[in-house]
Amino acid sequence: MEMEPLYKIKVTCAYCENVFSTSRVRPSLKRAVKTDTDFCGYYRGENPDYYVVRVCPSCGFASTENSNDRLAEHQRREFEEKISNRLVKRDYGGSRTWENALETYKLALLCAQTVGETDRIIASLLHHIAWLYRYREDQDQEQRFLKHALDSYIKVFENEGISGNDARLMYLIGELNRRLGAYNEAVKWFSRVINDKKIMDAAMIRACREQWALLREEMLDQGESLTEEIKG
Ligand SMILES: [Zn+2]
Repeated sequence: MEMEPLYKIKVTCAYCENVFSTSRVRPSLKRAVKTDTDFCGYYRGENPDYYVVRVCPSCGFASTENSNDRLAEHQRREFEEKISNRLVKRDYGGSRTWENALETYKLALLCAQTVGETDRIIASLLHHIAWLYRYREDQDQEQRFLKHALDSYIKVFENEGISGNDARLMYLIGELNRRLGAYNEAVKWFSRVINDKKIMDAAMIRACREQWALLREEMLDQGESLTEEIKG
């Protein structure tokens, strides 16, 4: 007997406290076929990324498991005054199409921006939206959202300062720059990860070397000449 790939969990809405159900993909049935260099996953069967956002069917508030369980008073006010009466209430609790997934991410982005969520959460939502467009090979929209995601990741890095010795974040900033064709910027971030003696994350150091090499090839393919920085 085949197991149903989705199961339901109960979530309490951070705004109206309504308890609703939302679907998740069973961990044992998550089958990644491949992963892109910026961690975009491709799955056989249900895509777990389609089920990241939880949307309350009674008030429309959308968030992820990384958001706070409860909104602070000023966040409640922002949501109530700015968007609550504009949201169309819909139940996204069952299985989701690509279109549904995109709607839920855009709702979560709108809610996150309205209540002033952290840049890390906003960056991740923007990045997921870019991936959805990549699945559909819509390059214009993909690049547009990658650029927004990149700007938010840079804010995360700047806010965390030197203490935020986050190799994965720095690698992502380099890789999104490379994907957007900003080669000089990309190299700056890759070389930071490679040359910073405090960074011990071997997988990220290797990824930076690989993407730097790929970038040189891309530039040569496009007939561009390599500067000293890019040669490394
Ligand atoms: Zn609600």
